[in-house]
Amino acid sequence: MGDTARIEELRREFGPAFDPGITRATDSLDLPDPPPDDYSDFAQLIRDRFAATDGDTVAVRFRGTKLGVCSRASVGAAGGTLSQAEPVPVGSGDRATLPGESGQYRAIRYYCTAHDHQEFHIFHDDRIPRNCPVGAEPLEFAWT
Ligand SMILES: [Zn+2]
Repeated sequence: MGDTARIEELRREFGPAFDPGITRATDSLDLPDPPPDDYSDFAQLIRDRFAATDGDTVAVRFRGTKLGVCSRASVGAAGGTLSQAEPVPVGSGDRATLPGESGQYRAIRYYCTAHDHQEFHIFHDDRIPRNCPVGAEPLEFAWT
């Protein structure tokens, strides 16, 4: 069986664990070759990965080709035991819900009054100059 057919077969077999709404992941996992031979082994492999890391999405690859992206929610929802062992808040997989205000990120507004320009960034670093795209002068900044 060629790689392409094998990839399609694995995508179908493990499909319920993939979250089609997520295309980018914080982590990636190369399946062993040969891959797990049934869905529950596959789901267990992904849950083990989530248990070992603090990411909540993982791109799954086989022979270098991405099969799909699993989230904690998609693996748990597809009949896993994660939801009993380790409660995951609704929306944690799709980032739809934030548990209160983030303590780690605040938007910083950079602005130039002369050219009525503003932009937002989530970090400030003195080594990274942020200049006005119109006049190239350094932008003023303020916490939002
Ligand atoms: Zn300017």
